[in-house]
Amino acid sequence: MIEPCARLSNGTEHRADVVISNADGRTTIFDMLDGRYVTDRIRAYYTDPPQEQDMALHISLGVARDMRTEPHALVLWLPEPIEIAGKRRDRLDVEFFAFAPETAPPGKTTVQVLCSTSYEYWKALSKEEYRAEKERAAEAVIACLDRRFPGFREQVEVIDVATPLTTERFVGSYLGYQAWPMPEQKLLDALSGKGLSKTLPGLSNFYMVGQWAGGLGLPNVAAMGRWAIRELCKRDGRRFMTRVD
Ligand SMILES: Cc1cc2nc3c(=O)[nH]c(=O)nc-3n(C[C@H](O)[C@H](O)[C@H](O)COP(=O)(O)OP(=O)(O)OC[C@H]3O[C@@H](n4cnc5c(N)ncnc54)[C@H](O)[C@@H]3O)c2cc1C
Repeated sequence: MIEPCARLSNGTEHRADVVISNADGRTTIFDMLDGRYVTDRIRAYYTDPPQEQDMALHISLGVARDMRTEPHALVLWLPEPIEIAGKRRDRLDVEFFAFAPETAPPGKTTVQVLCSTSYEYWKALSKEEYRAEKERAAEAVIACLDRRFPGFREQVEVIDVATPLTTERFVGSYLGYQAWPMPEQKLLDALSGKGLSKTLPGLSNFYMVGQWAGGLGLPNVAAMGRWAIRELCKRDGRRFMTRVD
């Protein structure tokens, strides 16, 4: 039997009865474990990612404007389509964050527009093209919002555009995407945690939690650590107890 061990990038090794990985699924399975513990299903999943993904491009603006009276989210239909990241859009999904002090200072608002996009589109751009494309995307969004909320353009103080490459760089998430349902899977099953793999074949005392183990979306992944500990308690014949401090 293999004794579970986690080796950190600085070379130190930590031995434990059980190792639970919450890191990116592809990195865990194919880099850290060298692809030694896989099924055809796991391999097929990671070799066939979606061409593009919803919410993968985030255009965020900090504006000196109190927008607390706006709805938290709205679908802004455009009088004529615009192009963002090589794709025509006839609407923008806009979210206004002004309802809590953590999201914007008093009198100001964080406005976010989420778009579908593809990792490959951004990856193919040169450094200059990449920067210019991000600026173009922000400008297109600001123009639409200025038309809907006159004076908006002059109130923009901060612009931040995050592409799948940004997400990949900051959280190491495969292709900068969130995990996707399997082809044969109904979305509801994917959302209820019946995902890809919480354990790996041939590797004992190892568990995965998080989006790549089967919990799509924050509410699900937040519960997966609890699930893993409950499974371990069951395995060891111990009572599973939780406590809220
Ligand atoms: C663009 C985008 C938009 C999304 N929008 C929504 C939404 O609107 N609503 C919603 O519910 N969910 C959304 N999600 C999904 C949600 O963000 C994820 O389901 C959730 O963050 C996954 O949590 P996790 O803990 O599994 O993984 P992560 O949040 O990715 O955490 C994994 C952690 O592991 C670390 N890590 C990776 N590799 C290593 C390594 N080698 N060594 C050490 N640490 C490592 C990373 O730095 C990271 O901190 C979105 C995801 C993306 C990418």
